Amino acid sequence: MSISSTKTTCPYCGVGCGVVVNMFDNGRVEVLGDPDHPSNYGRLCSKGSALGETVHLAERLLYPEIHGEQVSWEQAYSEIAKKFSGIIKQYGPDAVAFYVSGQMLTEDYYVANKLMKGFIGSANIDTNSRLCMSSVVAAYKRAFGEDVVPCNYDDLERAQLIVLAGSNTAWCHPVLYQRIVRSKELNPDLKIITIDPRRTQTSDVSDLHLPVRPGSDAILFNGLLVWLQAAGEMDLHFVETSTNGVQQALESAQQSSADINMVAQACGLSVDDVLQFYHWFARTERVVTVFSQGINMSSSGVDKINSIINCHLLTGRIGRKGMGPFSFTGQPNAMGGREVGGLANQLAAHMEIDNAVHREIVAEFWQTSTLASKAGFKAIDCFDEIEKKNIKAIWIMATNPVVSMPDANRVKAALENCEFVVVSDCVNNTDTVRLADVRLPATTWGERDGTVTNSERRISRQRPFLSAPGLAKHDWQIITELAQFMGYKAAFPYRSAAEIFDEYVRLTAYKKDPHRQLDLSGLSDMSLSEYNAMQPVQWPVTGRQADKLPMYSDGKFSTADGRARFIAITPQSPAATVSQQFPFILNTGRVRDHWHTMTRTGMSPRLSAHDIEPFVEIHPEDARRFELVDGKLAQISSETGAEIFVRIRLTERQQSGSLFVPMHWNLQFSAQARVGSLIQTVVDPISGQPEFKHAVANIKACDSSWYGFIISRQKPVLKYSRYWARSRGKGFWRYEIAGQETPENWATHARTLLNVEAGEEWAEFYDKADGHYRAARFVAGRLDSVIFIDSSILLPPRDWLISLFQKDSLSAKERAALLQGTPPADVEDVGKIICACFNVGEKTIRKAVMEGGAKDTQAVGELCQAGTNCGSCRPEITELVKQCVG
Ligand code: SF4
Repeated sequence: MSISSTKTTCPYCGVGCGVVVNMFDNGRVEVLGDPDHPSNYGRLCSKGSALGETVHLAERLLYPEIHGEQVSWEQAYSEIAKKFSGIIKQYGPDAVAFYVSGQMLTEDYYVANKLMKGFIGSANIDTNSRLCMSSVVAAYKRAFGEDVVPCNYDDLERAQLIVLAGSNTAWCHPVLYQRIVRSKELNPDLKIITIDPRRTQTSDVSDLHLPVRPGSDAILFNGLLVWLQAAGEMDLHFVETSTNGVQQALESAQQSSADINMVAQACGLSVDDVLQFYHWFARTERVVTVFSQGINMSSSGVDKINSIINCHLLTGRIGRKGMGPFSFTGQPNAMGGREVGGLANQLAAHMEIDNAVHREIVAEFWQTSTLASKAGFKAIDCFDEIEKKNIKAIWIMATNPVVSMPDANRVKAALENCEFVVVSDCVNNTDTVRLADVRLPATTWGERDGTVTNSERRISRQRPFLSAPGLAKHDWQIITELAQFMGYKAAFPYRSAAEIFDEYVRLTAYKKDPHRQLDLSGLSDMSLSEYNAMQPVQWPVTGRQADKLPMYSDGKFSTADGRARFIAITPQSPAATVSQQFPFILNTGRVRDHWHTMTRTGMSPRLSAHDIEPFVEIHPEDARRFELVDGKLAQISSETGAEIFVRIRLTERQQSGSLFVPMHWNLQFSAQARVGSLIQTVVDPISGQPEFKHAVANIKACDSSWYGFIISRQKPVLKYSRYWARSRGKGFWRYEIAGQETPENWATHARTLLNVEAGEEWAEFYDKADGHYRAARFVAGRLDSVIFIDSSILLPPRDWLISLFQKDSLSAKERAALLQGTPPADVEDVGKIICACFNVGEKTIRKAVMEGGAKDTQAVGELCQAGTNCGSCRPEITELVKQCVG
């Protein structure tokens, strides 16, 4: 029986899906897609669907702590205020910094920015969104005069051609992928092109996949610009009346991309494929070019994005429905942060810190005389300054830079040596929280109250359905109370998120430059109940409804003269080049079911079942040359001096010469797999965004004398395991382990590992000579733990064993088969879980095809439900169907 129902917004990606949360009186939390939310119309991906599994209190930070000792909020504020004020007094305001997060709500962001820039008087506040989309901000500003995303999600349904550049939409923005796939089903004439060095799950739905040489995107789009002009495909009227700079952009593009052969060669593509792309682009009026981290995370990301925007400006394909250059943002509120000045070089409400008039407006509005007058340190520079001890105190909010930053080991060392580190977070054990002098318990999704803005400028409410646990407070509350403690009571009087939102929206209209599009004045003076009931709305909104769609439909942009700017692009090669020592290009990215550093998705058994450990994808030919075996372990090293240990996966989806390693694994879930530690600190000179997509690295086999796994209701303290990766199951933990050093006697060691006490039920098999060891522990007749060790990787599949952990007791047949690790003949082994929503395994899907006669993904769904809920697994089901039917 549902006792309450709350409409809120998914906290993961920038799609910003609306969800309905139903709370039941037995404590169950059900999360469904909100059918009325215009971003997703009821759809959710696997991550959103599993949100209900992540709202428990395990591993929550519940009380303020100083050096690990629980304290009151007053003691914590007093300590922070004393330290921050002391350092500011002695060294000036630039000796302190805030590092904030795209996970924070707009209201949190606004007050953090106001405190640092307005009252502490430094602009040393930057956000982890710097790592994923600051190049977009810079590129839109260069082209349009303002950070304005000129597209809407329904453009994906109106487009006749969708170009997806550097975007694995199927996994990173799954609901938008679902919308694209649906558009294709309804409109078979819709063409989809993917531009990506990897053949991703998104490429599988495309009509043309361009596996570009890493880093060559600007050459490809410069080539398109040249080709469009030569083919007479310019929109002359639009270019003449609404833009500046076309000539210089064309001349520059000519230098790098004068003809098709030159482009094809530089990009590693066939001439035919390049021509096909250019023809389709030229001959299709409604083109949306989507770009994401594959373009943004580059040492020349800003230029790459402007090379894309140039093509839309040349053809006038902007400001009308079904077209435009469309950035898909990574984080749930990266956009909100951009709006309120979360970046070190911005002020709130799209005003600029290096603009004296803007500074005057903001200072007047905030009633402050200490507004920062120059840009602060961007994320990478900020941690460099901490390392140099120029920044002596930092407050990190809702983010985990020890995992997510490039050269992450250096960041870790810098924080370890920093004079004063404050971390506010909802969990108590992230790699960063562990380094804090003061830990502040923050509320999290389900408890928070405020707004977020998604990739299409749509502001939605995050509403609470749970009360704050322990002494946890909202980020805006913590910042407000600290500001009051520091003596800024009059400027920080807030009692609710609604009051902060109201101040922010009034600032967007205060002495506003008429060219600026960010205007939320229509949302000012809302009552608390109006704020609570606020419906998703896209800005600009000068009345109670959004006013103008599409953006820039009048051909007038946000620049002083109203004209968009072409940018002359000289393509740059990625900073790091392969060498004999580091012969591979290392690319990083996401997996389907995890998010960022796994602090939330790692709590979900469903999400943890898809990819259970860190891995490297490598082309089979490269693997052969480097003597790497599928399923064994690899050691990857880079110029940073760090090394990681990950599982080897061979795949022809990966280009020869390139490696792909996911970004998620951290010290809580793996022994040593933080890929950020391998990424050299190279940034885009304009945006400061790091080049996460192009490091150089070496790989070699990581010799192990034994391999194994443990499935246990306990968390064993591992010894001898050079490699381990942990994932959460339903009522158990799963460990994949391997090592070089071998315990003298596995039988003795396993009992210690699993805390087996004398007299407990314990079954084991040990062939010491061959290094085979298998054991199972039962507690009160229930399976408690299994451990399997072998000298090779030929261990039994884990899926059937895992299923036994859902039973209160095992049958005689199951007990007899237990240490073989394979199910009795009459029990079905479903294989690796593919559909997280309905727990459908690979073997079940293959059976649906081979025995059930399913010929496509839909038929598989009809037979076994796989892929029929969130749809995130549909690309994998399609791949399995293809494999089975040939
Ligand atoms: Fe959440 Fe998935 Fe929607 Fe992103 S696509 S907002 S992760 S449900």
